[in-house]
Amino acid sequence: MKALQERIRQDGIVLSSQVLKVDSFLNHQVDPMLTMEIGQEFANRFRADGVTKVLTIEASGIHFAMAAAYALRVPFVYAKKKQAVTLTEDVYSVPVYSFTRQETYRISVSKRYLSEGDRVLIVDDFLATGAALLGLVEIIKQSGAKLVGVGAVIEKSFQEGRGKLEQAGVAIHSLARIESMSPGEIRFVEETEKTLAEETSTRC
Ligand code: 5GP
Repeated sequence: MKALQERIRQDGIVLSSQVLKVDSFLNHQVDPMLTMEIGQEFANRFRADGVTKVLTIEASGIHFAMAAAYALRVPFVYAKKKQAVTLTEDVYSVPVYSFTRQETYRISVSKRYLSEGDRVLIVDDFLATGAALLGLVEIIKQSGAKLVGVGAVIEKSFQEGRGKLEQAGVAIHSLARIESMSPGEIRFVEETEKTLAEETSTRC
């Protein structure tokens, strides 16, 4: 998604070769126009799959799930990281290890909001190690619902998340795939693929 890539280049801050800060427009202060465009893009890519529910994890996936669900005209559900006192009913639940916070937390979703007949699209802000998204995949398995795919706003393709999800047979659509990054330079996968294709066609 060109507009997203341009915005990442313009306003993203590369903290290290592993960590990208996008909190001026995606996950602290939020650009609602860009967020709605992202939701529309996910909806376009998964519209043919008969999605009945969008699933994400609190907190930084919520606005993207909302935007995608709005475009698809279906409800969205977010997995909770802490068991609220109001969450008294039975839950699907799974432990997730956070590499950014170096701790394991438990995510849960009420059994009332996900069931066998659902066709679920998972949406999240980042695909990095894949731990959070694999946790959501496991929640869907527990519910007996059908996973139609995963939509990630930003994928750090140099980390292992995509490989792990592909191994689990999950269809992935990432709107910006970062191949590598360093302060002052962010390289996207699609651009490298395009350059290689251009080089091949000029050689032929
Ligand atoms: P995972 O490693 O499980 O794929 O990523 C878990 C979560 O860590 C993501 O949903 C995202 O909120 C956060 N995260 C991972 N890498 C980055 C990053 O480079 N920048 C920011 N801002 N968050 C990240």
